[in-house]
Amino acid sequence: MEYDVVIVGGGPAGLSAAIRFKQMADEQGKEFTVCVLEKGSEVGAHILSGAVIDPIALNELLPNWKELGAPLLTPVTDNEHWVLKENGKTGMPHFLMPPLMSNKGNYIVSLGNVTRWLGEQAENMGIEIFPGFTGAEILYHEDGSVKGVLTGDMGVAEDGSEKDTYMPGMELHGKYTFIAEGVRGSLAKVLIEKFNLRDGKEPQTYGIGIKELWEIDPAKHKQGTVIHTQGWPLDKATVGGGFIYHRLMKCSVIKTTRQSGLCWRGGGVYLTALVPLMKVVFSRFPN
Ligand SMILES: Cc1cc2nc3c(=O)[nH]c(=O)nc-3n(C[C@H](O)[C@H](O)[C@H](O)COP(=O)(O)OP(=O)(O)OC[C@H]3O[C@@H](n4cnc5c(N)ncnc54)[C@H](O)[C@@H]3O)c2cc1C
Repeated sequence: MEYDVVIVGGGPAGLSAAIRFKQMADEQGKEFTVCVLEKGSEVGAHILSGAVIDPIALNELLPNWKELGAPLLTPVTDNEHWVLKENGKTGMPHFLMPPLMSNKGNYIVSLGNVTRWLGEQAENMGIEIFPGFTGAEILYHEDGSVKGVLTGDMGVAEDGSEKDTYMPGMELHGKYTFIAEGVRGSLAKVLIEKFNLRDGKEPQTYGIGIKELWEIDPAKHKQGTVIHTQGWPLDKATVGGGFIYHRLMKCSVIKTTRQSGLCWRGGGVYLTALVPLMKVVFSRFPN
């Protein structure tokens, strides 16, 4: 199938690019075909959800996002910074924090919902979205330039055999092919290697993090409050910290995250260990 633009990845980046392409074509009165491949069962299914976002890009992309019903419903009203110790916490005044820790004008959102909403806007503009389709392979022209992508086969059993629902992958050709797979994308890795895109660049850094949505006692819910933590249980040589976002919901739901750089000393940190760790850390500071 031939398109003007083929985009791999229906996350915030891929969908925003699709919308912008369509807007530019409309401004010039041109017919322009754009498709987006999303390997999740639906747009938003693979998006790590709770987040605090700066609406600056949305203001530029869809200035009327409020009228369009964008799910940015909880403005940040308060910023707290806690330095944790094993047996207590100290609150740091907000004015001592670097500007990047300021969330003035930002919103606490479900990024999955924002992405779903972006998908709806894209479809309303005539962009074709293919949920459940993976970009599996890059296709090249004879001169070595990128021609498009091959989607993954569908209906393959775990042992590799073809089920009744088997559908071979299809070729999608684009005048432009956009890879918007998020971090560590499999096609991006191939292209980075083939076209030496990392030459002369800083090495990539990695972190590990985990998020949970908690339903809490409404009496303790402080809608719009963003809390950042640092310190315990990490030692001074380990970069990391925690986030707690009080989001608008019918019941009181907060989003908690613990993140750590991959530079701790001693043994490894496992995701399975981070979940109970998060519960211990935040339950010690119930207020
Ligand atoms: C723990 C954590 C906390 C964060 N908190 C915040 C926050 O509070 N505020 C904030 O602004 N940002 C936050 N971020 C960053 C934010 O999540 C990313 O910047 C944003 O999601 C990047 O968007 P993206 O579209 O580039 O990639 P992604 O959101 O990763 O989307 C990529 C999409 O492409 C799909 N995909 C990937 N490969 C393929 C393929 N080969 N074929 C088809 N589909 C494919 C995936 O299923 C996914 O839907 C956080 C990130 C993490 C990890």
